[in-house]
Amino acid sequence: MTANLLDFDLEGLAAFCERLGEKRFRATQLFRWIHQRGAADFDQMSDLAKSLRQKLKTTAHVEGLQVLSRHDSKDGTIKWLFDVGNGDAVETVFIPEDDRGTLCISSQAGCAVGCRFCSTGHQGFSRNLTTGEIVAQLWFAEHFLRKHLNTGERVISNVVMMGMGEPLQNYNALIPALKTMLDDHGYGLSRRRVTVSTSGVVPMMDRLGLDSPVALAVSLHAPDDELRDNLVPLNRKYPLAELMEACNRYLKHAPRDFITFEYCMLDGVNDQPRHAHQLIELVRHYGHGDSGKGPGKGVWCKFNLIPFNPFPESGLTRSPQNQVVAFAKILSDAGIVTTVRKTRGDDIDAACGQLAGDVKDRTRVGERIAQQRVVMLKPVRTFDVEAKETFKP
Ligand code: SF4
Repeated sequence: MTANLLDFDLEGLAAFCERLGEKRFRATQLFRWIHQRGAADFDQMSDLAKSLRQKLKTTAHVEGLQVLSRHDSKDGTIKWLFDVGNGDAVETVFIPEDDRGTLCISSQAGCAVGCRFCSTGHQGFSRNLTTGEIVAQLWFAEHFLRKHLNTGERVISNVVMMGMGEPLQNYNALIPALKTMLDDHGYGLSRRRVTVSTSGVVPMMDRLGLDSPVALAVSLHAPDDELRDNLVPLNRKYPLAELMEACNRYLKHAPRDFITFEYCMLDGVNDQPRHAHQLIELVRHYGHGDSGKGPGKGVWCKFNLIPFNPFPESGLTRSPQNQVVAFAKILSDAGIVTTVRKTRGDDIDAACGQLAGDVKDRTRVGERIAQQRVVMLKPVRTFDVEAKETFKP
């Protein structure tokens, strides 16, 4: 079996070339052909010696993922469903905005964390993606979009590891993938423009800070352990106190001055004013200001409120817009930068895992989650304020 060169970061490719008796600069040339020019055919790589091209043909290949389907939203969002074998599929989403092009990438087929509000979590876990399968999503999307938009310029400026899977539970494959994204001979993305999102795998947050400190987003979704245990089961292993301390430690390495806390707004579950006030207390309580960054009044953070994308098995509903706005205002009034994520691609099921879930529900974990659900009463709403998309103090 020959090696898939998408599996290698530049260091890995240099080691591979060395085994073929080739110098390091050959690896750099090869890396640039693959990632910057989208080449998969060694014969195309005209500045490589013919002898090297012959060696590569018998020892290596460059193979992306097969596209099962593509879904184009009216708002420009594009979602691909990729086949990863054995009946599994993963999703990748391109979100164009005026000043950037963001690609949301998957790291696992399914996910073992099992968050209640997440369509992927309801499908169970199949397997970790390889480095090549993670990188292939960017490789394919970047070069597809250049052709599609008829441009020679880079299209994807930002990558968020927020697709299917918990990236920090696939750490060994993640790190070379991140290195390829950041490498000037690869995609040349800045650390600030590559975001890893985690549900809070505390030991791996510490390792990421040392190995490849990119921007960090933490799926928070609840202000106390009781509620978070229920919404994000990993909280039982790494409760909020440990998670918040890990955020503080990460800030010492982070390319940005803040951690982004993702907060999915669930009607009557975590969207009440008291939850917002608890969140303010939480970030103030655990912030030591010893990271060398931030105002010293708490974890220097930004909140991103996410409108829930409903799916039938969840038993949950999206918070009304006025509730989201009221919640954002409480955080914002406390001096915390708070944004409300715009819903994109609603017409193509852009919520993570919804398309792949149609391909397979491997472990019937959705049923299990539904059975474990605790009943939560809907409190009376007391806010009715004007709707706005984004708050910044
Ligand atoms: S939200 Fe993320 S960590 Fe939680 S189940 Fe979904 S993919 Fe996994």
